[in-house]
Amino acid sequence: MTRKLFIRTYGCQMNVYDSERMAELLAPLGFAATGSPDEADIVILNTCHIREKAAEKVYSELGRLRSLKDARQAAGRDMIVAVAGCVAQAEGAEIMRRQPAVDMVFGPQSYHRLPEMVARIARAGTGTRAILETTFDVARKFDELPDAPGAHGPSAFLTIQEGCDRFCTFCVVPYTRGAEYSRAVAAVMDEARRRVAAGAREITLLGQNVNAYHGTAADAGAPSLGLGRLIRRLAEIDGLARIRYTTSHPHDMDEELITAHREVPQLMPFLHLPVQSGSDRVLEAMNRRHRVQDYLRTVERLRSARPDLALSSDFIVGFPGESDTDFEATLGLVRDVTFAQAYSFKYSPRPGTPAAAMERQLPDSVKEERLARLQDLIAAQQRAFNVNSVGRRLPVLLERRGRRRGQLAGRTPYMQAVHLEAPEALVGSIVDVEVTAAHALSITGTLASEAPRFAHASAARPQPPSPQSMSPQSTSPQPPSGNAVQEGEVRIIA
Ligand code: SAM
Ligand code: SF4
Repeated sequence: MTRKLFIRTYGCQMNVYDSERMAELLAPLGFAATGSPDEADIVILNTCHIREKAAEKVYSELGRLRSLKDARQAAGRDMIVAVAGCVAQAEGAEIMRRQPAVDMVFGPQSYHRLPEMVARIARAGTGTRAILETTFDVARKFDELPDAPGAHGPSAFLTIQEGCDRFCTFCVVPYTRGAEYSRAVAAVMDEARRRVAAGAREITLLGQNVNAYHGTAADAGAPSLGLGRLIRRLAEIDGLARIRYTTSHPHDMDEELITAHREVPQLMPFLHLPVQSGSDRVLEAMNRRHRVQDYLRTVERLRSARPDLALSSDFIVGFPGESDTDFEATLGLVRDVTFAQAYSFKYSPRPGTPAAAMERQLPDSVKEERLARLQDLIAAQQRAFNVNSVGRRLPVLLERRGRRRGQLAGRTPYMQAVHLEAPEALVGSIVDVEVTAAHALSITGTLASEAPRFAHASAARPQPPSPQSMSPQSTSPQPPSGNAVQEGEVRIIA
């Protein structure tokens, strides 16, 4: 009999990937995904511990699940409630103490044991059945996970690296995901080939610190390969049109990777490169191990390798001791670099991290005010970037149906969300789109031709819809023209 599985995913793309793998692990046991917890035999909350609110949301969701579970059990049907991910790793048994309806708590490095845990619970029936699994054996997890069966649409995630050794003073990741670990090159290549064979046209390589990747490669003549060389190998997979990677640390942007941006046409001209602050004093207190100048130099090298590169970043405002001058320096950096999009957060003290114990914690009112100012600036730059796309023809990977009938949704090379009218048969193709309108977070357009094409055909590379020329706050020079580089052959992929 088919049983129903509901997974709610919080946080980053790495959790999205983990949730997909959990669903794949439970499929052979007869669990099929459902869109509602009401009818689920097992509910998994795959959690994030990066900011406080995320954990609180999990606890309130667990309260709702408890009522649902009580109602199901009163009707003679069981429900297994599980908490996975980084909150599970950080809080462990405390979750079961606060919410006894929870049957399983397991961390991000233990979910490969899910089938065995579910079987144990089934054997225990309604008796004592709490399971806590928070070991850190990441190598074993990847060894024991079954082969990924295929794609989840035209754009797939692929985790290549986990954990982090950088210990930024605000961050829980080194404690919840453990030490840095890179998957072997052969394992990554196998999974990528399977995803492409099943229809993926784009792969986003994932890692908490993805550009620290150094996977063993028996045939490389070196003990390990860095991300730049891995990307070159992936680019040889026939049918893989787009490669992206996230999230990177500025300190780990090496020459090989920057050169890959220049030379590998499948590597998309968009990079999420978190800087966190524009003040050296704050960066040092954060233990980021780079200064503002280092970041600016890295951006310059990247833009000279790939003139149409669009940038995104993460910012934390209200870090302990951040002065008005420090915050102004962050605004200055944003104006100098200009971003196509960016994420910004109020600093949230995470238990057990060094920054949580620092003096001069700032009041929420200061954090709120700074966040609003920063977000206004970023929003203006994002809108300007989108406005500059209007009138251009951009290759768009059509990923899924849009919200309105007859509409499809996709992404430009620069990660802009695009909506357009197009036949559903084109989902999974890369098509040329004339951009007709810009909005705060997306653009709309019309199909330039129904014939799908490989992005970046033999024609000149599309020019960047530069935010610099539009942003009233911009002080930086215009980017060099993006059409100087000729590239790759035309390959029809659909
Ligand atoms: N590894 C990436 C890096 O080094 O930039 C970041 C990964 S972290 C999961 C994602 C983002 O969450 C960070 O870049 C940071 O901006 C934000 N973040 C992490 N800890 C935070 C905290 N304690 N308070 C507010 N934001 C936080
Ligand atoms: Fe966290 Fe990123 Fe710093 Fe690692 S590099 S500790 S994941 S913010």
